[in-house]
Amino acid sequence: MDKESHKSFRINVGVQGPVGHFQGKRRSRQREDEVKIGWLWTLLILSVATAAAQQEPVPVDQEPHHHVVLKNDSVLVLHVILPPGETTLYHTHTRDRVSVALTSTMLAQQKLGEPEGKPGMTHPGSISAIPNDGPYTHRLHNLGPATFEVIDVEFFQRPEHPSETAAAPVAAENPSARVYNWPLAPGASTPLHTHERPYLILAVTPMLLKMTGPDGSSMTHEVKAGDFHWVDTKVTHSLTNSGTTEGQIVEIELK
Ligand SMILES: [Zn+2]
Repeated sequence: MDKESHKSFRINVGVQGPVGHFQGKRRSRQREDEVKIGWLWTLLILSVATAAAQQEPVPVDQEPHHHVVLKNDSVLVLHVILPPGETTLYHTHTRDRVSVALTSTMLAQQKLGEPEGKPGMTHPGSISAIPNDGPYTHRLHNLGPATFEVIDVEFFQRPEHPSETAAAPVAAENPSARVYNWPLAPGASTPLHTHERPYLILAVTPMLLKMTGPDGSSMTHEVKAGDFHWVDTKVTHSLTNSGTTEGQIVEIELK
């Protein structure tokens, strides 16, 4: 199919009646074919244009900038990496979730069927605990200057009987999870606390992280921003920033 047949469609539509009437049968059929082909071509263009205007939303774990970094019976963890100038596909969230931003950039979001919202700066370590009130479809647009990175933790089922005790002061929560936020100056430690339920420990910043048990035994890990570990046993510990720069750890615990 080329430009010519499209052009001939436009000409034929204008003269279809008279041409059909005055020309011989063979010529007329040829014109009809051209019209038919022209119509198909136009429908194709229209459907491509419609697809471009409103892309079919995908489930969040199929959006190309959302990288699945953990999936188990309890959680789906996605590491979103969106370079400056890029836009995600429209994608749908269907679960309670907690998101923790890792970088600072100018980000706009757009709900399906609405204009793009006002852009705002993202802040490393900012936490959102979003309850699922039905499918939520949107896309994200990074207006720069840095790559947008966020860790998104989604919970497969709300607990029937949520745990009653929190391990520490709650920074954010939804029906599925509680979030504990530990900004740690160099040398600072959290109080000793107990996780009764499975949790995910996430580094928002690079840090030399020391974890100390009630008996004083400890482990030290060099962690990077975005590193995380899923723990599904009961744990009592304190966390210490053993490095020389400000650090932040976030713990996301099932209710
Ligand atoms: Zn902890």
